[in-house]
Amino acid sequence: MLVSALRQGASAQRRPAAPVKSNPNAKRRAGAIDSVQWRREHYVVNRDSAFLDPRAGLRTLRGGNRRFVENKSIRPRQDLAALLKVEKKQKPFAVIVGCSDSRVPHEILFDQGLGDLFIVRTAGQVMAAASYGSIEFASLVLGTRLVVVMGHQSCGAVDAALKRPDVPGHIVTLINSIKHAVAESKDQPGDPLDNAIRQNVLDQVEELRDLDPILSRKYKNGEVLIVGAVYRLHDGQVEFLPETLKNLPAFRPAAVSAAEEAPKH
Ligand SMILES: [Zn+2]
Repeated sequence: MLVSALRQGASAQRRPAAPVKSNPNAKRRAGAIDSVQWRREHYVVNRDSAFLDPRAGLRTLRGGNRRFVENKSIRPRQDLAALLKVEKKQKPFAVIVGCSDSRVPHEILFDQGLGDLFIVRTAGQVMAAASYGSIEFASLVLGTRLVVVMGHQSCGAVDAALKRPDVPGHIVTLINSIKHAVAESKDQPGDPLDNAIRQNVLDQVEELRDLDPILSRKYKNGEVLIVGAVYRLHDGQVEFLPETLKNLPAFRPAAVSAAEEAPKH
């Protein structure tokens, strides 16, 4: 008993102590952070690669969400020093088109920080002209190569489109935008709300891939990756929809298109 208690004590000492786990800064001081092993254990992807290659951007989001789900978020780039680094210029590696729902905080659930995500949020991630312009701005001006349309479980806007209650004001615009997805998914087996949420994302991915004049061209040329995802509230996991990861146009090397997009003097 005593020996095992001592062993436990010794191994507890060898392991990173509890305060280190809850405080990334303490870990940084301890020298453990950013080691190859630490990065592997925390699914960390090189931040520059995430910006230059949308596939690396996807791995970054997947890794960050995995940290969140496994309760080992590292909360990167969330202090004042990180803000000052991006004060003059931002290079978000992903555009997230997501729902306004208070349970869908994108930086938290993807464990990202300042300057990482360019987020367009409306209820049901319904898009209109201002959303399109925002996404085009990120793609054209900021050089962001990854666009993720993300729906979520228990989405009230999709639920409203399913139930079609009488609603006041402009809320009907949300319902009108989503009702097509409800009609498309109504004969699918399974839960009608979950099916409509998924179908809504698939429709919105198509909407952006076909959006003239900027995104449609960039998508066909392999300069921007547009995919869909659904976030589950019951376990925090983001599922990237396989239908949106198939038959993608070949990517152009980032260096080529980055040079072409360089500001002209
Ligand atoms: Zn929602």
